[in-house]
Amino acid sequence: MLIVEQLVKSYRGFRAVDGISFRVEAGEIVGLLGPNGAGKTTTLRCIAGILKPDGGRIVIGGYDLATDEQRAKRLLAFIPEMPNPYELLTVREHMKLVAMCYDTMDVYEQRAAELLKRYELADKADALAGTLSKGMKQKLAVVCALIHDAKVFLCDEPLMGIDPKGQYLFKSELQRLRDEGCAILVSTHQLDTAERLCDRVIIMHKGQLLAEGTLSELQQRAQMEGSTLEEVFLRLTEESEQVVPAETSSIQR
Ligand code: ATP
Repeated sequence: MLIVEQLVKSYRGFRAVDGISFRVEAGEIVGLLGPNGAGKTTTLRCIAGILKPDGGRIVIGGYDLATDEQRAKRLLAFIPEMPNPYELLTVREHMKLVAMCYDTMDVYEQRAAELLKRYELADKADALAGTLSKGMKQKLAVVCALIHDAKVFLCDEPLMGIDPKGQYLFKSELQRLRDEGCAILVSTHQLDTAERLCDRVIIMHKGQLLAEGTLSELQQRAQMEGSTLEEVFLRLTEESEQVVPAETSSIQR
């Protein structure tokens, strides 16, 4: 459902994403893990079509993002790390705008009512997005992602700032979408959540793919049978630090 091949993205000469390749099949939740600065957000933003890659190929539901952008994006929902809604549109107007863009106005009324209720945003439906709390803005991004019929979900730290009930609801929602055949890629630092939620994980480090697999495959690779994802993650990323000496920062402004 989602194919990423040899993706490269640099920021003025600094390779934030350095030739990574992976797939997310229909009906699986894949965790995108990695230390701060590993390149997770850059990867997700390239797949979402917000950043233009310098190299590589992204295919969504059979459509190449570079040559068939509209059809590829139609299948996609993106929940960004820091949602930045239009301050002067209300919650309901955001949902309507997304439904209009994705041609799902026929089911909009019913879905909007359900989502607003489920995510406890009904009393904020007519509030301007600029007046929402941080967690409510995150929930707004979630309900906007769920208002259309996406087949591929990209979630960048989707649980950040959301209250425990909202987190529980959203995790159940991802499992339901997975069971309905959607492909889901979730970046997170919450490794206990990733261990419970994800069918597989991809570990990025310094723009490259360090490891990929189920928990038991990663345990075998790290020779840590029975260990948690957190323990395996720490071992693999520490080992990689020892192999690859820390580079001096070349971040440009
Ligand atoms: P985190 O877990 O901290 O969110 P991440 O894995 O999502 O990190 P990215 O945000 O993709 O990492 O950043 C990857 C690298 O690219 C980092 O070194 C970051 O400083 C750099 N970077 C990201 N955006 C820019 C930018 N606009 N200009 C220059 N460098 C950038």
